[in-house]
Amino acid sequence: LRYLNLILGDQLDAESLLFDDFDSQRDRLWMAEVSAESTEYLSSKQRTVLFLSAMRHFAEQLKINSYPLIYWTLKDKKSSFPEALSATLKHNSFEKIRCVLPGDVRVINEIQQCAKGSDIEIEWLADQHFISEKGEFKAWLANRKQPRMEFWYRQLRKNRQILMENDQPIGGQWNFDKDNRKSFGKKGPSKLPAPLLFEADDITRQVTADVEKFLPNLYGNIKSFNWPVTRQQALEALKDFIKHRLKHFGDYQDAMWTDEPWLYHSRLSTCLNLKLLSPAEVIAAAETTYAKNEAPLNAVEGFIRQILGWREYVRGLYWSYRDDWLQMNALNARRNLPTLYWDAESEMACLHHSVKQVLDHGYGHHIQRLMVTGLFALLWGVKPKAIHEWYLGMYVDAVAWVEIPNTLGMSQYADGGIVGSKPYIASGAYIDRMSNYCQSCPFNPKQASGENACPFTTLYWHFVDQHQDLLSKNPRLGMQVKNWHNKSQEEQQAISQRAEFLFRNLP
Ligand code: FAD
Ligand code: SF4
Repeated sequence: LRYLNLILGDQLDAESLLFDDFDSQRDRLWMAEVSAESTEYLSSKQRTVLFLSAMRHFAEQLKINSYPLIYWTLKDKKSSFPEALSATLKHNSFEKIRCVLPGDVRVINEIQQCAKGSDIEIEWLADQHFISEKGEFKAWLANRKQPRMEFWYRQLRKNRQILMENDQPIGGQWNFDKDNRKSFGKKGPSKLPAPLLFEADDITRQVTADVEKFLPNLYGNIKSFNWPVTRQQALEALKDFIKHRLKHFGDYQDAMWTDEPWLYHSRLSTCLNLKLLSPAEVIAAAETTYAKNEAPLNAVEGFIRQILGWREYVRGLYWSYRDDWLQMNALNARRNLPTLYWDAESEMACLHHSVKQVLDHGYGHHIQRLMVTGLFALLWGVKPKAIHEWYLGMYVDAVAWVEIPNTLGMSQYADGGIVGSKPYIASGAYIDRMSNYCQSCPFNPKQASGENACPFTTLYWHFVDQHQDLLSKNPRLGMQVKNWHNKSQEEQQAISQRAEFLFRNLP
C-alpha cells in the first residue's frame, strides 16, 4: 500500500490536502478513538462525546463515499495514538504515513516517535483551514518589537479586503470595542433568541453509551448534549446565528447573565475548531449580512475581529513559542487549582454559575472564561499548568493551539506579556457591572475586607500589592498601585488579613 492517511478528531475537513491525490486502491484513511486522549490528558464528558460523535459522523460520510477507512473505536481498547498506529502498521505495510499538521505539539511528537519506531516515513501536510498562510504570521512577527493583535488583524483585513473600502476600514474605524461593552442592566436580557440546539441522534447516543462504559470517570455531565456534529448541522448553526443573534453580538459581547449560557454568542468555536466550518465562510457570512444591512457594523466588525483577529493571532503565537508555553510562569504562581473548578461548589455566585455551566455544557463565553474562571485563578495564583489542563479538558472547543495562548497568555499572564500587554485584572465591581451574579451572592463586590468582602475584590488588591513592580510599568494599572498606596495602613492590613483568611478558607 502507498499512504496511510491519519485523520485526527479535530481534522474533520473533507477538503483537506489528504484528499487531493487520494487513490482508493493504494491508500487508506485512518481514525482512532483512544482512551488516553480523555484520561491521561483530561477531557470532560461533553468534550469527549463531541469529538467522538463528530468523528463517527465523519467516518460514516467517508464510508458512504466509498473511502477505504481503518477506524479504531473505544471498544478496541487502544490506549494511545502510538498503540493504535503500531497495531495498524503491524498488519499492513505502507510506504508512508501522512497527516495534516496537528494543532498540538504533544500529538505531533507522539506520532513522530511512533513512526520512527516502526521505521516508516511521515509527511506533515499543511493545515489549510485558516485564513493566514504558512509563514505569514512569522514574517509579520519578525518585524515587530512587541506583537499586538490589532496590527495583525488590520494587516489581514487589508490583504484580504475584509470590511474594507480600498485601503480604508468601512465605517472609518478599525474598532468599535467601546460600543461593545453593554450590560443587560438590572432588568436583564429581554426575549433572547434561543440558538438552534441539535438533539442527540443514534450515533451520538451510542457514543455516549460507549463513553459511559469505557471512560466512566470523566468530569462533567452529559444530560443535555446538543452540539452540532456534522458539516450540515454546522452550516445550520451558522445560519441560525447570522439570522437571529449576530445583530446584537457586539452590544452584549461582554455581558453575562445567570442561567443564560449562550446570550448572543455564536456557539461556532467547536465547528471551527473541528473543521466542520471554515473561518473564511463564517467571516463571509457575517460580511454579507452587513452588506445587506441586516446587522450593524459594530456587531459584524466585533464578530469578524474575534475570528480574523484573535483566532488567527493566537494560532500564530502558539506556533511561535511552541515548546516554551508549558514552561512559562512569569508571575511565579504556585497554588493548586481550587476544587470548586471540578464540582462548582462555591458560595461565590459568579464562580458557581460559570463552572456549573462548564460542567453541564462544556461552554463559557469569552468573558466568563477571562473575567470569572480565569480571573479568579490569576488572582488566586494557580499554577499555570494546572489551570491550562482544566481549560483544555473541560471546554468542548479546546485544542492546544487555541487554548494555550488564551489561558497561559491572555488570561494568566504566565507569558509575561506576549499575548497581551498587561494582566487582565479586575475587582468584583467589574463582574457586578457586567452581570447579575452579585445579586444572588452573599458577598459584596464593593467590599475588600471583612466577612462580607467579595473574594475577587480582596484578592484584586492583594494582587496589586504583590505585583506592584510589574503593574507600575503600565499607565492604567500603575494608577491602581497608587490607589493601593492611598489606602490607610489599617485598610491595607485588613485586606491582607482577609486575603490570608481566604487562602486558608475558600468560600
Ligand atoms: P463567539 O463569542 O461567538 O466568538 C466567535 C468566534 O470567535 C469563536 O467561535 C472563536 O472561534 C473566535 N474567538 C473569539 N475569541 C477568541 C480568542 N480569544 N481566541 C481564539 N478564537 C476566538 N477558544 C477556543 O476556540 N478554544 C479554546 O480552548 C479557548 N480557550 C480559551 C481560554 C481562555 C482562558 C479564554 C479567555 C478564551 C478561550 N477561548 C477559546 C476563546 C473564546 O473564549 C472562545 O472562542 C469563545 O468563547 C467560543 O464561544 P463562541 O463560539 O460562542 O464564540
Ligand atoms: Fe462574584 Fe464577588 Fe459578585 Fe459574589 S460578589 S458574584 S464573588 S463578584
